[in-house]
Amino acid sequence: MPILNRIAALGPEMAEWRRYLHRIPEIGFDLDRTAAYVAARLAEIGVDSLHTGIARSGIVAIIEGQAPGPTIGLRADMDALPIHEETGASHASTTPGAMHACGHDGHTAMLLGAAKYLAETRAFRGRVALIFQPAEEEGSGARVMIEDGILERFGIERIFALHNAPGMEFGTVMTAPGPIMAAVDTFEIHVTGRGGHAAMPDETADPIPALSAMASAIQCIVSRNHHALDALVVSVTQIHAGTAFNVVPGTGWLGGTVRSFDPAVQGMVRRRLAEIAVGQAAAFGLTARLDYHVGDPATVNDAAEAAFATEVAREVLGETAVDGAADRQMGAEDFGHFLEARPGAYLFLGQGPGAGLHHPAYDFNDEVAPIGASLLARLVERAQPL
Ligand SMILES: [Zn+2]
Ligand SMILES: [Zn+2]
Repeated sequence: MPILNRIAALGPEMAEWRRYLHRIPEIGFDLDRTAAYVAARLAEIGVDSLHTGIARSGIVAIIEGQAPGPTIGLRADMDALPIHEETGASHASTTPGAMHACGHDGHTAMLLGAAKYLAETRAFRGRVALIFQPAEEEGSGARVMIEDGILERFGIERIFALHNAPGMEFGTVMTAPGPIMAAVDTFEIHVTGRGGHAAMPDETADPIPALSAMASAIQCIVSRNHHALDALVVSVTQIHAGTAFNVVPGTGWLGGTVRSFDPAVQGMVRRRLAEIAVGQAAAFGLTARLDYHVGDPATVNDAAEAAFATEVAREVLGETAVDGAADRQMGAEDFGHFLEARPGAYLFLGQGPGAGLHHPAYDFNDEVAPIGASLLARLVERAQPL
């Protein structure tokens, strides 16, 4: 069975919804206009119950099937990014400095399309919980919705989500059993020395050589402390110190990101960062403090659910369009919180050539929406057949 005919017919409507949302990008948890629009569409669609204001602007809508059974969750993210749009599209952002540069407008439209089809046809047993989530980009929306108790409250037993992938062949799907996206942490190392006149450096304790040495030493965590065949990224992305040409600053700091898959590796990196901070600072006669912020966990698919989703994707898209054993990505996604709590899988959907995610020229490809919506709908019909 390829793309569902009824969903193909919803293509123009999904594009209209998506373009409306694209014009009104909102960031983080403050998605008032977006959530109001989504809730209005869900009410029109005729879902059986609609629950708004979860995690401030999140929504859960329930559609009942034709017979009793379990509850499956489908999740879309709704938030935009603080990027100034440069697409020149007629549906471009009307809010300067904000845009849907990750295609969450498309994810929302695809889940609305699947909802409309599922509410019309109800060819499944049990219930489907449609989860519209805020604040994916800042990485806490999923966690806050889970802390608000949606999994227990709606009895969600398994959960699926997909993300559009620009640059990946149109209409192809990638997923994998086990880890698919990395855990993401951030760190800051704050160095304290003694400032003074740049002409008399002997009277100072200069943080700048210490920060430089730390940035070099941190490169050795991946190359010297970690197994060569295991994926890990440690990037120093900021160094800050000083305000003038003739002043040695008294303090400075550097910061960066850690992408990992294994809690033991994550622990090793944290320990090495602390050792490098304190040891290098001491070598230069300064003191240092590490602030380490644990972010989203790795997105780890359940092996059986990934195999199931692969099978459903092959049914919709064809045998050769689906890679069920794709390579892990070093990007991150807060859907990992859901997968820590429930079995499920996360999939990438290729939308063809174009600017990459988080780029000011990026735009969601509306042509891919009927494919994504069919995939979401078939996950429900196949997971909980009548
Ligand atoms: Zn993003
Ligand atoms: Zn995204």
